[in-house]
Amino acid sequence: MSSVVSKSEQSRVEILGMPVDRVTMSETMARLEEFVSSGRPHFVITADAAGIVQAQSDQDYQLLYRRADLITPDSAGVLWAAKRLGKPMSERVSGVDIVDRVCALSADTGDSIFFLGAAPGVAELAAEKMRLKYPGCNIVGTRNGYFPAESDRVVAAEIAELDPDFLFVAMGIPRQEKFILDTMPIIKARVSIGVGGTFDVFSGKVKRAPVIIQKLKLEWLWRTLQNPSKLSKTKLLPKFVLLVLKQKR
Ligand code: UDP
Repeated sequence: MSSVVSKSEQSRVEILGMPVDRVTMSETMARLEEFVSSGRPHFVITADAAGIVQAQSDQDYQLLYRRADLITPDSAGVLWAAKRLGKPMSERVSGVDIVDRVCALSADTGDSIFFLGAAPGVAELAAEKMRLKYPGCNIVGTRNGYFPAESDRVVAAEIAELDPDFLFVAMGIPRQEKFILDTMPIIKARVSIGVGGTFDVFSGKVKRAPVIIQKLKLEWLWRTLQNPSKLSKTKLLPKFVLLVLKQKR
């Protein structure tokens, strides 16, 4: 019996049981534009090594992965694992880069964007920086990410009033993804993505690693040195490497 491998299977890799799409940045942008044109809500995850390790002991988070329309390779660890599993991917597609590209796109198309997350004032500052960088970029609203889960529906109703095409949620893994899936039926943004510390980077609160450090694949070390509270996540990286080394190719 001949086995038929679907296109989506070929273009996905399972890393420690979690699916990741083998997409480049430009393919990701093309998919996001299709999602917006469809008029229907879509959910995107940017997968990093720490999140994949966290998912191993969080069944709810595993289910979230299964419900995502697109899962991009966000970290050097994910690229390394994909290569080792014989399904190499050519580049990282991070939350920071996606938000930047979408803001540039919005300046051309007028697609509307909402920034939700980070400490009070940070998302607004990030939005101001993006409006200066891409004049005409249509960021229709911002809100900080410090509210209890019981208020999710109230916050969602406020965002729904603005009917954004893109909703970027920067509240950390897995809170941001859980917020997105729970509130998708209310907000109905065409594209919702959890983007971690992105607004901290755009607002200037946290500096992105210099390109040379990114090329050396040491951005995780840079981030930990800038923000020692990230140490608990950094500690997950050796575990990720060990688990991937044990995974059958
Ligand atoms: N954050 C938030 N609400 C919370 C907890 C965190 O908005 O209840 C924000 C925090 O201020 C930071 C972002 O979420 O801007 C998390 O960034 P991090 O780089 O830790 O994200 P991750 O590594 O989880 O993707």
